[in-house]
Amino acid sequence: MKPTLFLSDLHLAPERPAATAAFHAFTRGPARAAAAVYILGDLFDAWIGDDQLREPFAADIAASLRALTDAGVPVYVARGNRDFLLGAAFARATGVTLIPDELVVEAGGEKLVVLHGDLLCTGDADYQRYRAQMHTPAAARRLLALPYPLRRGIAWYLRRRSRTENARKPEAIMDVDEGAVAAAFRRHGVPRMIHGHTHRPARHALDVDGTPRERVVLADWDDRGHYVEVSGAGLAVRDVTG
Ligand code: MN
Repeated sequence: MKPTLFLSDLHLAPERPAATAAFHAFTRGPARAAAAVYILGDLFDAWIGDDQLREPFAADIAASLRALTDAGVPVYVARGNRDFLLGAAFARATGVTLIPDELVVEAGGEKLVVLHGDLLCTGDADYQRYRAQMHTPAAARRLLALPYPLRRGIAWYLRRRSRTENARKPEAIMDVDEGAVAAAFRRHGVPRMIHGHTHRPARHALDVDGTPRERVVLADWDDRGHYVEVSGAGLAVRDVTG
C-alpha cells in the first residue's frame, strides 16, 4: 500500500530559501511515491490572491505542484490563516484540490480528520472574531477587488500586527482548546486527527467518550521540511532537505 503524506506550515517565501528547496525536493522525491499528499494550510507565508501566480517565486511553487499532479499523485490543499485566499485559479494552475476547513480522509486503511488547526484555538477569541469576519466569500471578494500592490501592503501590515499581538498573548491561548478538539472528534467519529498551525509538533494520545484517540500535530518547516507518512505500517515522521 502506498503511503499518504501530510504536511503543513511550510510558510514558503523568497526569504526562506532552505524551506523552498526542501519543498521542491519533496515534490520531486518522496511525494512521487505517495497515494496522496495533503498540505494542511500555510503552504505560503502570504497569499494575497491567485494573481500572486504572476510572481516568479509563486509560479515556481505552482510548477512544482503541477509536475506532481501531472505525475498522477492527487494533492489536496487546505487553506491556512496565511493563505486563506488560495482560490480556483491556483487550483487550476497546479491541479490540486482545495479542501474544506475539516475533512475526513482515509489513509493506511484508517479514517482520520484533517484540518489546518486554527479553528481549534478557540481560547484566542480575538483571532476567532477576525477569522469569522475575514474567511467569508464576501470578505474575500472585497479584498480581491483591491489593487494588487495595495493587497501586498495590507498583508505586510497584518503580518506585523499579528507578530506583535501574538507576542503579547499567553502561551495557553495560542494552543488548541481541549474542548474544541473533543468536539471535532465527536463530530467526525474517527480515531485520529492530523493538523498543523500551532507549530508544536507532537503525537497526543487522548480519550474522548471512552474511546482512545490520537491528535497528531505537524511541524512547521525551517531549514528542513517535515512530513508525516501514514501507511499500513502505521505513522512515521520524516524530514526532507533541498
Ligand atoms: Mn497557521
